[in-house]
Amino acid sequence: MTLKKYLLLAVSAATFLLLPSGKVSAQTQKLNLVCLDAGHGGHDAGARGRAGMMNEKDITLAISLKVGKLINDSLKSVKSIFTRTTDVFIPLPDRHKIANQAGADLFVAIHVNSSPGSYEKIRTGSRTVGKGRKKRTIPVYKTIHHRETGANGTETYVLGLHRFGQKENAISEYSETVTEEPGLLNENDPETAIIIAQYSQAFLKQSVTFAQKVQNNFALKGRKDLGVKQAGWEVIAGCVMPGVLIETGFINNPDEEQYLNTEYGQNEIAWAIFDAIRSYKRELERAN
Ligand SMILES: [Zn+2]
Repeated sequence: MTLKKYLLLAVSAATFLLLPSGKVSAQTQKLNLVCLDAGHGGHDAGARGRAGMMNEKDITLAISLKVGKLINDSLKSVKSIFTRTTDVFIPLPDRHKIANQAGADLFVAIHVNSSPGSYEKIRTGSRTVGKGRKKRTIPVYKTIHHRETGANGTETYVLGLHRFGQKENAISEYSETVTEEPGLLNENDPETAIIIAQYSQAFLKQSVTFAQKVQNNFALKGRKDLGVKQAGWEVIAGCVMPGVLIETGFINNPDEEQYLNTEYGQNEIAWAIFDAIRSYKRELERAN
C-alpha cells in the first residue's frame, strides 16, 4: 500500500468513527495515553549542531525521555509510550503505527529547528579574460554560507495547509525553516487536501488547543513565541488522534544551541510540554 493510500485510509477510518453524530466522539475526549515521538535518530541526525555539541536527534530524545519521566512521576492518570528510547532510526510510517496500534490519545513529535542561515557574496580577487584589444579584468566573487542565525524561539505545528499568517511574516526572512525538516506532504497533490480536510474535521480543534498550551508555557519561560502554525507534516497526518510537532529552538542560533544542549534548557522544555499535557487533560475532563 502506498503511503498516500495508507494516510487516506487511516484518516478516513478515524473520521468515519468519530463523526457520525457530526461531532468528535468521546473517543478523543480523553487523555489516557500520550505517544512521545523524538524526531530523527540513528543515521538521521536531523539538524546538526556545531562540532562537540549534540545534534537534533540527541536533543529530541533527551527531551522526550524527560517528558515521559515527568508524566510517570507526576501525572499518574496518564501513560506514555515512545516511538524510540534509544538512538535508532524509525521510519515515519512506523512512528504512526506505534501510536495508532497503542491507541494513543495524543501524539507529540519533538524536533529542533534550523534556519537556512544567510549567504554573503564577497570579492576574492580578479582575473583577466579575452585577448588583445578585448582583454579585460573582471572581479571574482565567492559566496559564503553563514550557518549561524539570529532566528530564535519555539513554534508548534498542527496539521494543515501551510499559511503565511502574521506571525510568519514577522519572521519572513526565516520562512524557509519548514523545508529544513523532512516529511512534508506535497500540498499541490489533491489527495493531500483530502487527508488534511478529514484530519482537520476530526482532530484540528484539540490539536490547536494543546499546541497553544505548549506555546504559552514556552513564553512563560521567556522563550520567543513564534506561534501555532499549520503545515502538512506526514508524521501527524498518519496518526488517528490529535497531534502536534514542536520545534523547540534553533540549533544554528549559538545561544539557543547552548540552551538546547544543557540539562537546564532540556528540563525547561520538557516541563513546558508536560504541563501542557496536564492542562489539556484537565480541560478535556472539565468538558466531559
Ligand atoms: Zn526535525
